[in-house]
Amino acid sequence: MREVPEPTTVLSVVVPMYNEEAALPALVCRLRPVLSDLGVPYELVAVDDGSSDRTAELLAAFRTGWPELRVIALRRNSGHQAALTAGLDRAVGAYVVSLDADLQDPPEKIPEMLELARAEGLDIVYGVRADRSSDTRFKRWTAGVYYRLMRRLAGHSVPAQAGDFRLLSRAAVDALKELPDQQRVYRLLVPWLGFPSGEVTYERAPRSAGTTKYPLSRMIRLTVDSVTGFSAAPLRLATWLGTGAFLICLVLLVYTLGAYALGLTVPGWTSLFTGVVFIGAVQLICLGLLGEYVARIYTAVQNRPTYFVGHDSAEPRAGRVPAPTAAREDVLTRE
Ligand code: UDP
Ligand code: MG
Repeated sequence: MREVPEPTTVLSVVVPMYNEEAALPALVCRLRPVLSDLGVPYELVAVDDGSSDRTAELLAAFRTGWPELRVIALRRNSGHQAALTAGLDRAVGAYVVSLDADLQDPPEKIPEMLELARAEGLDIVYGVRADRSSDTRFKRWTAGVYYRLMRRLAGHSVPAQAGDFRLLSRAAVDALKELPDQQRVYRLLVPWLGFPSGEVTYERAPRSAGTTKYPLSRMIRLTVDSVTGFSAAPLRLATWLGTGAFLICLVLLVYTLGAYALGLTVPGWTSLFTGVVFIGAVQLICLGLLGEYVARIYTAVQNRPTYFVGHDSAEPRAGRVPAPTAAREDVLTRE
């Protein structure tokens, strides 16, 4: 059986990190005093998402003299949400806060979140960005489009501008662990739970060091996962486009018959060509949309784990490379 930290752990702070060697020292500097001052047993769960820089080395160095720091190393880079899943799956605290490593979300808000959750008996406390002026214009614009789209598709329970800085109660974490979802988008899954929730607002700071690990391609992936995970509306798009095209065809039919009657039927290459290309493009888009949902079903049926834990410093075999037969124990069969 796994040796986990004291069951009395009140707070777990889960921090996924991917190549964060530049941001790590500042994070430790700010986070450690906040957590020590809380005066409750805590663990800091650092999930090293297959970093290729010195993140693992730095974490090992910080661990000496800081027993509350627990390091979970994933075998390969699995992505932010999968790393978060690994942390949530293994965190033992009565409350679990998720935080990015780059200090864009202030750790100093954690006591406020915990206090609010305890005082009002809340299961979820969202960190809501009141001010994003430190983000780039492009980031603000894409984030604005993303949240508007998500509120439309997934419902208004999704708080605007709430990212992955939030506190969850043990009940909420256990409920999330029960869900069969594979490509998880926590900022939508958590509001979907509908548990009693509150908000703590803060100003979003610029990244403390290093560069964003969310290039445009990953943002697009997150949006596709968010949309296909929470709404079947895009599938209906084909029906609406088909209906629209049919109505346009009816009008065109009248026009063509009129032109035929007037003997004006020879020219028309341009309109014919444009029409064919347009319909072809619409059909491909619809096929692509179908493909996205089929891909989700496919992934769900395969039910492959979305991450592999290489080592967890809270486990007895920490530091040892597991034998192939024992490796199965290391693999969480489900996200
Ligand atoms: N991250 C991760 N795995 C990845 C990409 C990102 O664990 O594959 C972590 C990253 O180290 C950071 C958090 O996810 O702690 C959010 O990433 P980032 O700050 O780069 O995103 P942004 O704030 O630019 O959207
Ligand atoms: Mg960031």
